[in-house]
Amino acid sequence: MSNESFDKSAVEKSLRAVVDPATNKDVVTLGMVKHIAVFEGAIRIVLELSPQAASIQEQLRATVDRAVRQAAVVACANIETLEIDFVAPKVAAPSTAPTSTQGEASNPLPLVKKIIAVGAGKGGVGKSTVAVNLAVGLARMGHSVGLLDADIYGPSAPTMLGMDDVGTKAKGQMLMPFELHGIKAMTIGKLVDPDKALVWRGPMAHGAFKQLATQTDWGELDYLIIDLPPGTGDVALTMSQMLPVAGAVVVCTPQRVAQDDARRAVRMFQNLGVEVLGVVENMSFFTAPDGKEYDLFGRGGAEIMAQTMGLPFLGSIPIHIALRENSDSGTPLENWKNATMGASLDALCQRIEAQVKLAEMAGRTDRPTLTISP
Ligand code: ADP
Repeated sequence: MSNESFDKSAVEKSLRAVVDPATNKDVVTLGMVKHIAVFEGAIRIVLELSPQAASIQEQLRATVDRAVRQAAVVACANIETLEIDFVAPKVAAPSTAPTSTQGEASNPLPLVKKIIAVGAGKGGVGKSTVAVNLAVGLARMGHSVGLLDADIYGPSAPTMLGMDDVGTKAKGQMLMPFELHGIKAMTIGKLVDPDKALVWRGPMAHGAFKQLATQTDWGELDYLIIDLPPGTGDVALTMSQMLPVAGAVVVCTPQRVAQDDARRAVRMFQNLGVEVLGVVENMSFFTAPDGKEYDLFGRGGAEIMAQTMGLPFLGSIPIHIALRENSDSGTPLENWKNATMGASLDALCQRIEAQVKLAEMAGRTDRPTLTISP
């Protein structure tokens, strides 16, 4: 057996070996297993435990940990991270109160209307550039927007938003977001030594994302844009479990190799139950000072990839020196000073907004459940 076959049902099966001595029933039969998520060696299990039984929590965690790891050994599967969390049983709502959906009841960001993730199959394709310009572009259209730089392995927001001279502020347990260029922003890059962030793995990545997302005082937002780390990994998994994400935008450059990576990112979102809003082609072509266009990487590749995967194509962004310069100098609003670039960024924001609305109308933006098997 391989990692692929050590899926949700294999984990659930292993939990049947964890038996409560008092009732002689296993934790699955007792209905204590609330969620199981499995993705590429990362496993997360959520168990329900009443506060009265708190004294056995650590013992139960150790037993569950052992049972799952033993089953993985038997299945010749590798476990990269195994997280076991506990939740208290939900208190039944009074019969007069309106019943709320699971998403509403457990949404940690109830004041945020729509959450859009920006992902990419690999680094360097312009994912953060798209995230920053999407956030600023939507704010220019009159929306209240937050940008969560969740690329904890290589945060870009401090540079791209020009945060060198701004200090962090907290109010009690909550971090105050940075307010720049018409948006609110939060990044690990202003909280820890960026070199340290690079080595964060597994549970630490989960904890870092959770804190950044939920301990930031975002206030009311129309959109929260989440700039995910490149590739497929722990942060996307945590995000999909924790937040009601409206959808994900996948950024890709036109080359064939980049498309292969982007396809994996698309599949990851689909496996996690996150709607893929579409694909953006970045670095599509280069316009030389004489106005001549050069397809350095083979323009149109990402569009074809989107078509073959049945996904909307959200638009292309050319290679533009000003885009790089404005990123490096932390002045994203300058991008709109160039009429052609401003227009293409606005068009991109509008298409993404439209896809979010379509997904909403089709009822595809519900909080995903944790039934993930790759
Ligand atoms: P990622 O988040 O995918 O790692 P970034 O958004 O950080 O990629 O972009 C990598 C570098 O490429 C940055 O210096 C950025 O300014 C530059 N860049 C991204 N897109 C473009 C573009 N369309 N034209 C010019 N430079 C770009």
